[in-house]
Amino acid sequence: MKPVDPAQFRAAASRFATGVTVITALDAAGDICGMTVNSFVTVGLAPPTVLFLARPGRTRDAIAASGRYGVNVLPDSAVALSRHFAGKPDPGLDLHYEWTDGLPRLAGCLAFFACNVVRPIELGDHAMLIAEVTACDHRDSAPLVFFGSRYHAGAGAPALVD
Ligand SMILES: Cc1cc2nc3c(=O)[nH]c(=O)nc-3n(C[C@H](O)[C@H](O)[C@H](O)COP(=O)(O)OP(=O)(O)OC[C@H]3O[C@@H](n4cnc5c(N)ncnc54)[C@H](O)[C@@H]3O)c2cc1C
Repeated sequence: MKPVDPAQFRAAASRFATGVTVITALDAAGDICGMTVNSFVTVGLAPPTVLFLARPGRTRDAIAASGRYGVNVLPDSAVALSRHFAGKPDPGLDLHYEWTDGLPRLAGCLAFFACNVVRPIELGDHAMLIAEVTACDHRDSAPLVFFGSRYHAGAGAPALVD
């Protein structure tokens, strides 16, 4: 079988539209850290279970130490936040945190899940961090969407049915 061309794989994968989250955690010194993630998945309802895939880095180390993370679902006004937590730090960004179940949350997020890791699975250089949700809440607003390697506002028209 012919090997899959990495550029073709990347382009095809980019056609899968996702929301955008920032995963927040507390490191061993109690400092807040965070990373932008679009591999967030809801896994099951009983118990409420989620997962995401984490590459090596500061936030993954913090989660390994504390066993906990928060999932901040971003609204469509939060492109700057997404960029900031994806390794393009913006020193001028005014970050505000609130707290839920002992975890930091970004003020203005669309939904928040407080999570306890129940099963970390190493997959190559990524780890799948399966977690049980201990608290969650949401508000109604338009989501930030990532599609075709670009950000989009998520308040589009409903899909046509039939
Ligand atoms: C749309 C999108 C989706 C992505 N999805 C994934 C994914 O599913 N899995 C994955 O592994 N990677 C994903 N990434 C890449 C990931 O966001 C970056 O690799 C990120 O830099 C990793 O964060 P880190 O904590 O490991 O590293 P760091 O580089 O240490 O932290 C990330 C950034 O957050 C800032 N920051 C951290 N904590 C704070 C704080 N308390 N206050 C202010 N600023 C802070 C840092 O300045 C830095 O710019 C995605 C990127 C994008 C753009």
